[in-house]
Amino acid sequence: MKKFKHPLGQLRQDPITEKWVAIATARSKRPDLVANTERPIPAPKPRYKEDCPFCNLAKYPQEPDVLRLPDVPLHWQVHIFANKYPAFVPSKEFHSWNEGPYRALDSVGYHDLMATRYHNQDDGVADKRLIALELEALVLRYRQLQGQSAVNYIQVIKNHGKEAGASVEHSHHQIFSIPVLPGDISELLHGTERFAKKNGEKAFSIILDFERSEQKRIVFENEYFTAYCPFASRVPYETWIMPRQSNPFFETIGPDEREALAEAMQQVLGKLYTGLNDPPYNYYIHSAPCDETGFVCDKSLFGHFRWHISILPRITTWAGFELGTGIEINTVSPEDAAAFLREQKLPPQHS
Ligand SMILES: [Zn+2]
Repeated sequence: MKKFKHPLGQLRQDPITEKWVAIATARSKRPDLVANTERPIPAPKPRYKEDCPFCNLAKYPQEPDVLRLPDVPLHWQVHIFANKYPAFVPSKEFHSWNEGPYRALDSVGYHDLMATRYHNQDDGVADKRLIALELEALVLRYRQLQGQSAVNYIQVIKNHGKEAGASVEHSHHQIFSIPVLPGDISELLHGTERFAKKNGEKAFSIILDFERSEQKRIVFENEYFTAYCPFASRVPYETWIMPRQSNPFFETIGPDEREALAEAMQQVLGKLYTGLNDPPYNYYIHSAPCDETGFVCDKSLFGHFRWHISILPRITTWAGFELGTGIEINTVSPEDAAAFLREQKLPPQHS
């Protein structure tokens, strides 16, 4: 019987969460995975779509805008409004209770949408000035929401493409403002504290210094940000955009950082667009909780944390092993992913 020899993969551990991933490049030879990364580029989106709820606002009225930028009638480019189908709803009342061994509380909070004016202004192909404007709108809304009662954590996310959970094709973000501390944020906060106790230094400082000296997982850098594929990347082409200044709070970034972040996002998302044929992806901004009362966690935990953006292309699917163990099998090494992305050119941009 013929014996197949495969190169050894690697188990890699995230230094903060201490979770393991399996880098198994031999598995990318599987035909279904190759087909996923070689899928044809989707047809370009139109600038306006008659039957789109965020294009045709006359036919599909949305909740009133809470914020528009630029704040000039007829000339706005991005707007923020409440989701018609919210997961979290503002309420003056806020109940929590126990049911036997279980704890529950009302899903109070806010669930906002931020849409671009035009249908096709996705970050991978959008003008840098528009991305900077989106970031300014997010910062402004973040500051409004963080003072609201029962808002202890704010999560900004973007779903791009059906496979990434986007039910509306029009380019948009979602802002979830919630009363509880998500498990993943708790893990990051406690992980950075544990790391500092063990190593005497902040985790993200050591990681960035190491990545910048190695260079092999770096995708892009400018004066304020470093974009890199993490050593223990959970999915192929996972990329983090990390500020080089240690700061737990996204909402405190100033105009120069916004411009630099817009450039870094355009570079990473543009290269993903070109290299992987406009793949579906999720990205999210992880920032410290905005909990003034200490309801969800001790503020001393924020000191070792640094806000950042994680971008996860959705070109593979979780199966039983991932669900059963929490160990993702990643078929593209972060070193190969970064080298591939560095080579890619940016696509033409829409203003
Ligand atoms: Zn639209």
